[in-house]
Amino acid sequence: NTVFKTDIEIAMEAELKPIDQIAEKLGITEEEWEPYGRYKAKISLDVLKNKADLPDGRLILVTSINPTKAGEGKSTVTVGLGDALSQLGKKAVIAMREPSLGPVMGVKGGATGGGYAQVLPMDEINLHFTGDIHAITTANNALAAFIDNHLHQGNDLNIDPRKIIWKRVLDMNDRALRQIVIGLGGPKQGVVREDGFDITVASEIMAILCLAKDLDDLKERLGKIIIGYTYEDKPVSVSDLKVEGALTLLLKEALKPNLVQTVEHTPSIIHGGPFANIAHGCNSVIATKMALKLGDYCVTEAGFGADLGGEKFLNIKTAAGDLKPDAVVIVATLRALKLHGGVPAEDLKEENLAAIEEGFSNLVKHCETISAFGLPFVIAMNKFSGDTEKEIALFLQLCEKHQYTCSLTEVWEKGGAGGLDLAQKLEKLIEETSSSFKRLYNNTDLISEKISKITRIVYGANRVEYSKEARRQLMQFEDEGWGKLPVCMAKTQYSLSDDPSQIGRPEEFTIHIRKLKPSIGAGFIVALTGDVMTMPGLPKKPAALQMDVDAKGNAAGLF
Ligand code: ADP
Repeated sequence: NTVFKTDIEIAMEAELKPIDQIAEKLGITEEEWEPYGRYKAKISLDVLKNKADLPDGRLILVTSINPTKAGEGKSTVTVGLGDALSQLGKKAVIAMREPSLGPVMGVKGGATGGGYAQVLPMDEINLHFTGDIHAITTANNALAAFIDNHLHQGNDLNIDPRKIIWKRVLDMNDRALRQIVIGLGGPKQGVVREDGFDITVASEIMAILCLAKDLDDLKERLGKIIIGYTYEDKPVSVSDLKVEGALTLLLKEALKPNLVQTVEHTPSIIHGGPFANIAHGCNSVIATKMALKLGDYCVTEAGFGADLGGEKFLNIKTAAGDLKPDAVVIVATLRALKLHGGVPAEDLKEENLAAIEEGFSNLVKHCETISAFGLPFVIAMNKFSGDTEKEIALFLQLCEKHQYTCSLTEVWEKGGAGGLDLAQKLEKLIEETSSSFKRLYNNTDLISEKISKITRIVYGANRVEYSKEARRQLMQFEDEGWGKLPVCMAKTQYSLSDDPSQIGRPEEFTIHIRKLKPSIGAGFIVALTGDVMTMPGLPKKPAALQMDVDAKGNAAGLF
């Protein structure tokens, strides 16, 4: 039995190059970046202007099937694929999201890849990195403070304190803060009202940062945020409060993408990190556009399965950033297929051919989704050391039966060398098939039509049921003129349906729309399904229990 090193051990042993060498490799001049310590840098927004005349590289999106609680290795494959393309002599640039401390301290762990396919310095990226998420938290909560101060100082805008939809945020899983009462203690402590916290990665400001083109666009979008309604039910925006300038100022450094490197020194741009279940799940448009200008290939990921981050990357982010993907990688693991075949989480390590065959239906659905977008794809089977030969053979056979291009990917164990086959198959696919990319809905469709298209084509649902509140909001939002915006679905990542226990490929099911939320600054309407939460909780045994730091400051227990 081989003993494998942990992610943090590999990360601590890796030799990093000073960040100036990575900037040089990326092809940016000294004026176009500034160091944040020895191994991190912020890239100037001027890069996009300076390189405007260069042609874009190829855009590869990495997505996956519905994952297990641990994740199926999308970040790992994204990093490994970037390294593999580099090994093949291509100029590859990776574009990923910034990790949130919620999952880092919770159950899922960090978001820097794994094994020999990691971005570094992994501890710093997973903890506070360059402070972008803190800046977003601060801007979000500054707005909350401005709102409560406005109520306290006479409420000129006539805001109904019971109809404020702007919540406070924290970058941590903290269920005790989901619903709170503020302003207690008498007239000097402000106006009493109900409030609540979301996790920072669900903040509209996170989405705005990720979709903005530049500082002007950022300011314009921040001004459009709807914070609540007046007593006459008129929406109140940030520009009514006149604080969009202050909020933009708080975010001016955070808008610059961050440069780091992989274990094999491939340049990686990490920027923005909305979750894919409760937000749109993609790194920033600015980072992706830079990676496209600076590389032959931009390898980027979107969170959770093709039903969540994948769908929102293709319907929302491509429209906001005028992006045209060339190909998609769909990551699958045997453990997730077994889970979808009905195997309980504690038995996933045991060989089970019947369950793989049964659970394969989940992968098939996601392949159909990517085809519906008109995109060619390769399946990356992310190999685990416990996968048996018989299981792997069966998986390859099933792929062949469906005529899927598939690559056995071993980047976790071998770094870029374990992804050469995947990289070659992708190159060939991109050369031979032209992408006929199309979005699944038109923004001119009614909100309910957009929701119907997503739930039918992407989830395979046959009905949508709206709560009374959501039905009222559908009419209200169309009346306000918000009906032409795309829809950002909030749904569990564990199932194609809105019920996490419906594994595999559920059929004939209903999607329940509980509530809608206008994110006018981000430029979409959020549709909350089932009982998905915008503030997660910690599990009984959080990852935090394994964490430590020694007297020299070396981190332990991060993964
Ligand atoms: P995702 O991006 O899909 O959420 P990650 O790439 O973050 O998944 O991987 C989740 C965890 O699984 C990480 O801790 C990573 O080290 C581990 N992991 C990924 N691939 C493998 C593999 N092939 N073998 C063992 N562990 C792996």
